[in-house]
Amino acid sequence: MDSVEPFSRTDPLSSSSSSSITYQGQPDQPTHRHETTNITTVTEKSIPSDLGTLQSKPSQPMRDTYPLTSFGLQKRGFSEKYFTIHSWLEYSIQRDAVYCYPCRHFGETISSHEQIFTIDGFRNWKKLGEKLKKHAESQYHMKNNSKYALFLQSKKDGTVLDKMSSSSVELVQKNRDYLKIISDIILTLSLQGMPFRGHDESDDSSNKGNYKEICELISRHNTSFSESYNKYFNLSSSGIQNDIINNAGNIIQSKIIGEIKECGAYAIMVDEARCFKEQQLSFCVRYTKKLEIEERFLGFVECSQQRDVSSLWTLIINFIDKLGLRNFPIIAQAYDGASVMSGRNGGLQAKIREIHPEAIYIHCMAHRLNLAVVDSCNDIQGLKSFFNNLEIFYLCLFPSPVKP
Ligand SMILES: [Zn+2]
Repeated sequence: MDSVEPFSRTDPLSSSSSSSITYQGQPDQPTHRHETTNITTVTEKSIPSDLGTLQSKPSQPMRDTYPLTSFGLQKRGFSEKYFTIHSWLEYSIQRDAVYCYPCRHFGETISSHEQIFTIDGFRNWKKLGEKLKKHAESQYHMKNNSKYALFLQSKKDGTVLDKMSSSSVELVQKNRDYLKIISDIILTLSLQGMPFRGHDESDDSSNKGNYKEICELISRHNTSFSESYNKYFNLSSSGIQNDIINNAGNIIQSKIIGEIKECGAYAIMVDEARCFKEQQLSFCVRYTKKLEIEERFLGFVECSQQRDVSSLWTLIINFIDKLGLRNFPIIAQAYDGASVMSGRNGGLQAKIREIHPEAIYIHCMAHRLNLAVVDSCNDIQGLKSFFNNLEIFYLCLFPSPVKP
């Protein structure tokens, strides 16, 4: 139900001394006092301040006696019985007069005839019953009374805007709850190192892959999730999965960078890695956090095109710039023993030391151990066969990507 805009006068009720009345809600119309001469009295009169406001209700003060006024030989006054007959009726103690609450607040036009119950106040007690009945049956009053009823209803039920707003808040909350579960599924699969997609993700597939199978499992037990999952836009596309993974990665990366900045210096560990047809640099850092050593992976840098010293140096420096770590000193660097990385004069380590002279080079301990083990095994035939067979088993169970 729509709200009813009351036809209110600026501050008509809070200041009985105000002699100027203005009208709101009709910006394209001049105020009535400029339209008709008989309304000029409006500006000269004020409405009593003891009448009801829009926030309250009609003012109906109950008194043992009301002031009496002489009508010829008789004295008459207001009677509270009229409150029972007309619920919209108001009585002003200040002016000893009655008013109509709906017409005061919702009346759109003011004529001399109508203003008796809206501005002047009616106090001809001798004809009160008759005049109230006539007013109650007038088109003007009935229209305003309907507006008042709608106003009360909208206050009780809330406006259309309120309802739309509350429904929108519920929808947003529901979508957020759904996204939380979707994100949790993605993070869990990532943590476990499990593949997301299946070979056949069509509706009639018997195995749609880990991601969709888990979504369907939750759908079977959670009605709210099921409703969102079965909609056309259900965040299950591979593009959105990647977006969520990237966003999670960015959050983790920012946290690590914050810790490095707090530490003030860091060491880098870079090695080449292959991903299908792409050659990548894996970029890791070491730093201290409350005197504990932290070792973190920060990202892959694609280096398929060129892998000479200058290209690798440019890629690493650009990556460090992108992370916002350019102004923080690198105090150590660790690579494998390949000359392009570890060369004392023309290697990557020498290029890094040109701008970070403190960055001592350390031949990666894991690579050194690997070299020592391989050399030892090559001299012992039994061990050589054992490791060869082990590698064959490994390649059989976890096939490596195709090498170009
Ligand atoms: Zn009325």
